Amino acid sequence: MDEQRTSSAMWEPCYADLHIHIGRTSRGEAVKISGSRDLTFENIAREASDRKGIRLLGVIDCHSPVVQMDIEQLLENGTMTEVEGGGIAYQDTTILLGTELELREPEMREFHMLAYFRALSTMKSFTDWMKRYMKNVNLSSQRVYVPALEMQAEIKARGGLIVPAHVFTPHKGIYGSTAPRMADVLDTNLIDAVELGLSSDSSMASYIRELDQVPFLTNSDAHSLGKIGREYNELQLAKPSFDEFNMALKGEEGRRITANYGLNPRLGKYHRTYCASCGSIMDEHAMSAERCPHCGSVKLVQGVLDRILAIADRENPHVPASRPAYQYQVPLEFIPGLGKAKLRLLLDHFGTEMNVLHLTSEDELAAVVGPVLAGLIVAARDGELVLSSGGGGTYGKVTAREVTE
Ligand SMILES: [Zn+2]
Ligand SMILES: [Zn+2]
Repeated sequence: MDEQRTSSAMWEPCYADLHIHIGRTSRGEAVKISGSRDLTFENIAREASDRKGIRLLGVIDCHSPVVQMDIEQLLENGTMTEVEGGGIAYQDTTILLGTELELREPEMREFHMLAYFRALSTMKSFTDWMKRYMKNVNLSSQRVYVPALEMQAEIKARGGLIVPAHVFTPHKGIYGSTAPRMADVLDTNLIDAVELGLSSDSSMASYIRELDQVPFLTNSDAHSLGKIGREYNELQLAKPSFDEFNMALKGEEGRRITANYGLNPRLGKYHRTYCASCGSIMDEHAMSAERCPHCGSVKLVQGVLDRILAIADRENPHVPASRPAYQYQVPLEFIPGLGKAKLRLLLDHFGTEMNVLHLTSEDELAAVVGPVLAGLIVAARDGELVLSSGGGGTYGKVTAREVTE
């Protein structure tokens, strides 16, 4: 029976990281100034396909005309092709064309919002409209001087998808920086998903009722090649494309988000409130302090957890049953003792980081890098490495659990 083909047997997990910046073009023009020089459109595709095993990528900064020149060149010389269902194909990986917009409403602080379009021609038409309202359309994450509702309408008129970015971070997340409710700023009916960002997870986000029906994504926001896949999603798609991704967000015909993979929020850079004067991170006990208990300064920067608790409209988080699991995972780069040479060895044996993280047994890993590292990789996979709290722009640290020689 045809219907039965929608059972899980026909699906292959598709790992997706939908927020990756461009550092430079192939000609060396700056796009994300703080991004690394080798973070070009082509290098991102190679890294994701060859090393990471990520089959759906969202490359942000495709609104930039100098990036569009790179994409056109890669299409012309046959390195990449346009996918029928939307997106750009490189080998077995599909790239969604995305952009990150900075918006600011009167009397409020600014926030970031991601948008994805189906085809390069659509992205170019969006650029043509948008460039009149900004200072330098070639650069990443620039302020667009357009009201948020008008921006949403322009994106939707072009069939685009709207995803508020890293929503809880104090640095330009809509909840972290702008307003206690998304509905204060945006038309929530036109939101396709929200991006949780590095210091939150599904449970923390479930303190807020207006998010109950909104899909969650978790992405790397990579500014360098190595960070691609630091956080990602597992999707159930027939094949990687814009249309399939859109269906997954809406849960149509078996397409869906099956899991989010991210750092335990405790490892995130902005998890806890910190003191901008002396740098100390507030632990749980000092959470509601108005002055730094160490130096007395009032220059406290609210951490993500503390912000969520302050704007919560529930006593306890309520995660809807339909919500996919949020799996804590420590990226391979955080694992003590797993340096470049050992990682190379693993990739030579198992192909991609996704294979190392998801498909390889502890015994197979041990045969290549020894039992101690294999144990740590499996602990990282299962979210069992012990972490200290992060705050104030530094990551929490991994402390290896009982490693015995
Ligand atoms: Zn951002
Ligand atoms: Zn970004």
